[in-house]
Amino acid sequence: MPKNQRFILYLLEVLIQQLYAGKSMKNGKLVAFNGPGQHLEFKREIVRQLKSGEILVKNLFTTICGSDLHTYVGARKEPCPVVLGHEIVGSVVEVDKNHSGKDYNGDPLEPGDLVTWTIFASDPASVLTKEGIPQKGDNLFKYGHEQITDKEHFHGGLAEYCILRPGTGILKIPKELPLPIAATVNCSIATVAGAIRLAGNIRDKKVVIFGAGMLGITCAAMCRIKSAKWIAVVDISQSRLDKAAPFGADEIFRMESGKIPEALWNKFSDKGVDIVFDMSGSPEAMEAGLELLGIGGVAVWTGAVFATRKVQVNPENLIRKLLTIRGLHNYNYEDFVNGLTFIKRYWHRFPFASVVEKEFELSDAEQAFDYALKYKPLRVGIWVNPKT
Ligand SMILES: [Zn+2]
Repeated sequence: MPKNQRFILYLLEVLIQQLYAGKSMKNGKLVAFNGPGQHLEFKREIVRQLKSGEILVKNLFTTICGSDLHTYVGARKEPCPVVLGHEIVGSVVEVDKNHSGKDYNGDPLEPGDLVTWTIFASDPASVLTKEGIPQKGDNLFKYGHEQITDKEHFHGGLAEYCILRPGTGILKIPKELPLPIAATVNCSIATVAGAIRLAGNIRDKKVVIFGAGMLGITCAAMCRIKSAKWIAVVDISQSRLDKAAPFGADEIFRMESGKIPEALWNKFSDKGVDIVFDMSGSPEAMEAGLELLGIGGVAVWTGAVFATRKVQVNPENLIRKLLTIRGLHNYNYEDFVNGLTFIKRYWHRFPFASVVEKEFELSDAEQAFDYALKYKPLRVGIWVNPKT
């Protein structure tokens, strides 16, 4: 081989080695939560190579969900250290060759595409997944809930990257959807879509929603779009109720000392309402909801994702009125698709742009948690990678 060709080959080899080294040395910042009462820990770790069927995403914006706050203060336990944050939106960096290369709707996934993904990954062949409950399927993995190990660091929202596993529902999101709104799709909005599914037909129904947080206001908006006859939102906080009003509620009621507000009770004490949603997690609210239901009524409970006292159910009331109580934790793929479809169509119609009340940088993550706990906004958001 001529000398100049050998030299060109040598240069190519050096270039390839450098490219490979650059690729394998990709690293990113993450915020580790080590337990309640401890300061958040800021670290930089190597992003490992993708395994078969995985996708690497650059996280862009993460909203802090109520569950994150419960973990932060110790009201619920996660294995520590953990990268919190599961309401995430990001952009595709790399798609492993063994991934289909398509999102859940069948649209091609390319580097740079904006995506949201299910809070969970699970085995698509498992029995529960086939029965429409993939959020409890085999080999369940939940983003923002898993322990950091020597090998796995990037699986939560408060990190610059997230590695998406096979069995994750991924959906492309349009560029015009603001990231602070898009971030809420894969927990609160998809969960409400699931609650609506479990409630059955909403059209012309009288609906009462307990809890005027992110889930409650989204539920009001979805019920409005589904042509509910009358929608009431009940909460213990007047300031939260005031925020809920523009999301489709016909009336708002303040609940005091665990009792059904008299004005609400007087309205429906004879025939009752058709559907009650509990998005508060309060046993008093769940009990009040059952009292409010009329014949054939349905109660859907999603709020109590932490330990509470037991709820008292009057069995005679339940039997004679043919009531149904349904529980929902997280959501399935269908709910996820419906949640994104809803927000794409209606984010302009309701004030979803006001949901993230304060934005922070990743380096200010601790201030973001403190702010959320102190002021109880609907959401605080964190720009994980610099705002572009
Ligand atoms: Zn959540």
